[in-house]
Amino acid sequence: MSSEPARLGTAPFDRGHTDDLMSFLAASPSPYHAVANAAARLEKAGFRQVEEADAWDAVTSAASAAGSGGKYVLRGGAIIAWYVPEGAEPHTPFRIVGAHTDSPNLRVKPQPDMGAHGWRQIAVEIYGGPLLNSWLDRDLGLAGRLSLRDGTSRLVSIDRPLLRVPQLAIHMDRSIHEKGLQLDKQRHMQPIWGLGDSVDEGDLIAFLEQETGLAAGEVTGWDLMTHSVEPPAHLGRDRELVAGPRMDNLLSVHAGTAALAAVSARGDLSYIPVLAAFDHEENGSQADTGADGPLLGSVLERSVFARGGTYEDRARAFAATVCLSSDTGHAVHPNYAERHDPTHHPRANGGPILKVNVNQRYATDGSGRAVFAAACERAGVPWQTFVSNNAMPCGTTIGPITAARHGIRTVDIGVAILSMHSVRELCGADDPYLLANALVAFLED
Ligand code: ZN
Repeated sequence: MSSEPARLGTAPFDRGHTDDLMSFLAASPSPYHAVANAAARLEKAGFRQVEEADAWDAVTSAASAAGSGGKYVLRGGAIIAWYVPEGAEPHTPFRIVGAHTDSPNLRVKPQPDMGAHGWRQIAVEIYGGPLLNSWLDRDLGLAGRLSLRDGTSRLVSIDRPLLRVPQLAIHMDRSIHEKGLQLDKQRHMQPIWGLGDSVDEGDLIAFLEQETGLAAGEVTGWDLMTHSVEPPAHLGRDRELVAGPRMDNLLSVHAGTAALAAVSARGDLSYIPVLAAFDHEENGSQADTGADGPLLGSVLERSVFARGGTYEDRARAFAATVCLSSDTGHAVHPNYAERHDPTHHPRANGGPILKVNVNQRYATDGSGRAVFAAACERAGVPWQTFVSNNAMPCGTTIGPITAARHGIRTVDIGVAILSMHSVRELCGADDPYLLANALVAFLED
């Protein structure tokens, strides 16, 4: 055996990473759970939480923001984590992996208890742009954050079948074949959760207090959402695919967390590696936990200043920083190939995708392409390019927002999936670990 210190190498992950992703997806039915699970993985790698309200320039504990080591800030459904290598200068640039923690779903309204004709129902609001049809006839659980009278909060997740949005029988919807499925977001998407003629105000919250062992009346606020309780599964002749919920974009959150934890084991990094996983991408990122808020800039600046840096150091660090904004993209669909650009057909298990849009719906430019290509080459990872068909409006993500808001050079990348925004999406089983390996090579450059 060599006496050399163990080198990470550039491709530490394999199919085991994908299996771990499947556990992460199942255990993260809400953004709050996703950041808690990311934090738990980072804690295992030696990262420690830093409170935003504490003084960061005071070296008072192992979790101090001023010293070297792994740190993270949690705010609602967002996490910013970073690793300061020994000997980092105040002007040492950052290498950022950006992602988002939220997914389209059905969220509980403020006065949720309703019902009609002997059915008990829960009033829900549509979050983001889900494929509504995919939510019909699913066994749904309920998860999120309960805010308590004493000012603390608690995560809750009911993972057994609790709710269902029943589809109208075809006998009563004969026009479905000519007109397609017509769903009214208000009338047709309210789940049932039992039987009963009376509507008891406070019934749902009382039920959740019981389920979580809280006293009656302790819950005074909540952010609750539904999820499919069907666990992620391998799919395909050779199990070469994975079906599961919230790949958009927990797949990137998970890969970014794994990559950051892996590179933190290295001693000789020339950048400060960062994971920035935001909430509320699916409705435009304008939130205190969103990419269009000050969270990332504030954390990076405070990290510079806590290490004795000046505004000049901050400007130097930001100018040489690069962000890989990772989110899911569209694999070519065999039944709708004409909707894709004819010469850009990303395939499942073809490796991560570089996302390009000259109108800056994606932040990638030619120099960003070169950064991504170099990382993939070092990692030995194949990669592909996505660009929209000109007749199709292009989606967007946190990349252009990060670039514009912080003046940080940003490259949009991701993994090509099918059924984006379905309650159950589909990706290749190799792509998650190929992405993670590319992220490691980028962060440890
Ligand atoms: Zn997304």
